Amino acid sequence: MAVTAQDATPSKGDRTRQRLLEIAVKRFAADGYRRTSVSDIARDAGLTTGGTHWCGVDWLTMESLAHKNIHVLGDATLSAPAMPKSGHMANNQGKLAAAAIIELMNGREPNPHPVIANTCYSFVSDREVIHVASVHRFDPEHKTMVVVPGTSGVSPARSELEATYAWGWAQNIWADTLG
Ligand SMILES: Cc1cc2nc3c(=O)[nH]c(=O)nc-3n(C[C@H](O)[C@H](O)[C@H](O)COP(=O)(O)OP(=O)(O)OC[C@H]3O[C@@H](n4cnc5c(N)ncnc54)[C@H](O)[C@@H]3O)c2cc1C
Repeated sequence: MAVTAQDATPSKGDRTRQRLLEIAVKRFAADGYRRTSVSDIARDAGLTTGGTHWCGVDWLTMESLAHKNIHVLGDATLSAPAMPKSGHMANNQGKLAAAAIIELMNGREPNPHPVIANTCYSFVSDREVIHVASVHRFDPEHKTMVVVPGTSGVSPARSELEATYAWGWAQNIWADTLG
């Protein structure tokens, strides 16, 4: 099949991906693979905002505030107020981003009222567990996520019952995230 000049022109996404790869290769060459972190690469690419090594995002889409068409999830994000960095939060942010990207690719607006949640369990003995949980919703006035009043809480006491919940939570999040 003939390749036209138009076919050969890389898309904006391809160019961005290529740029990130080139920055990563330069970093690996300078510092070595083991000493290079994702935040180093993000910082070199100008993805970090606010003078920090975290990436500011639009909470309706998880799109970088520094670069269009790059969506950032999880621990790399500049957290909203009282938002934990957690696996559960990263998982929810991934779903928020995926849903928003589907809407944007279809020429529609993303959900203007996204809600995400967090739960972290900790074994404090070989049988007993405590948890912390919160629900976060988009605040259109401040363009950030805020904790829904009354949803933030911790276990009143360590318990074996919570160990059952913790294992259930773990099985679900592993299956949901890793397939
Ligand atoms: C001790 C501990 C306990 C925790 N307990 C909980 C809990 O109970 N519940 C909960 O929800 N969360 C918990 N967390 C937090 C949770 O693990 C993180 O928030 C979550 O893993 C963040 O996911 P992420 O994908 O953003 O980052 P990560 O999981 O850190 O993934 C980043 C990936 O990028 C890779 N990487 C880094 N640099 C490069 C590079 N240069 N090139 C290529 N790859 C690279 C890393 O190897 C890693 O695989 C805990 C964390 C710790 C440390």
